[in-house]
Amino acid sequence: MPLVPMKTVLDAAQRGHYAVPAFNVCANEHIDCVFAVSRQLQAPVIIAIHPVEIEYFGMRQITDVIKTRAVDHAYPVVMHLDHGDSYERAMDCIVHGFTSVMYDGSVLPFDQNVANTREVVRAAHAVGVSVEGELGLVGGTEGDTYAHTEGLSDDQLTDPAMAVRYVEETGVDSLAVAIGTAHGFYKGEPRIDVDRLAAIRKQVTIPLVLHGGSGTPTPTIKRVIELGICKINISSEFKRAYHEGLAAAMAADPDCWDPLLLFPKGKDRARGLLQEKFELFGSAGKAARTT
Ligand SMILES: [Zn+2]
Repeated sequence: MPLVPMKTVLDAAQRGHYAVPAFNVCANEHIDCVFAVSRQLQAPVIIAIHPVEIEYFGMRQITDVIKTRAVDHAYPVVMHLDHGDSYERAMDCIVHGFTSVMYDGSVLPFDQNVANTREVVRAAHAVGVSVEGELGLVGGTEGDTYAHTEGLSDDQLTDPAMAVRYVEETGVDSLAVAIGTAHGFYKGEPRIDVDRLAAIRKQVTIPLVLHGGSGTPTPTIKRVIELGICKINISSEFKRAYHEGLAAAMAADPDCWDPLLLFPKGKDRARGLLQEKFELFGSAGKAARTT
């Protein structure tokens, strides 16, 4: 089936009280794993691509691969720009077939973030593309090895009243919230402000998004889904699983150099991780609910 807008899968997730995983990809092998596990579990899925991943793979190359795979895939797939940094970037992605874009103006002053996001929303909605916005700071940046939560203070987390204003004034379809998670792996137990999430949920009706999902403890994941998180981003854990599979295969047979033997070992490990996430988030078997 053709790629679907993110609003379609997230609105269904909100009604069904589960979360859809967004997996970052930057290699054919990653894309292969995401489609395989979505098919195996009959699950909707979001393929997230960060600007640095687009740069690595090539815009036309990565979008052609995903669009072509989706045509032969029976379950809903969203192609989503992760952490879009400008109006121009968002438009470039839309032209190349993305069905969802994130505009991340979270480091800007509130009014500027609103004004920029609103521009992206107006253009994206005119052609049926969904928009994710962000308010508040998630620790670190995409691609960080370790999560940086040390410098995060409460006033950098998402303020519920400001979130209401942001959503009303921009018209975004989903909102990424900052509640203490960070990109990369946690060195200790992350301190997730679930009370803040509950307060946001009381006032904001659109689907909420959690960045920095890698390594977040299972009970916390279950709790944030109960409290209205409908999309959880996983990048570091997925990619690490792939390379652990490769590393184990190379350690078992140091003379093996053949990608046709090694890459499948990486994919086996990565697929196992993806399956765990779909099941933990409650989205396995939910493809039919996404209409
Ligand atoms: Zn992120």
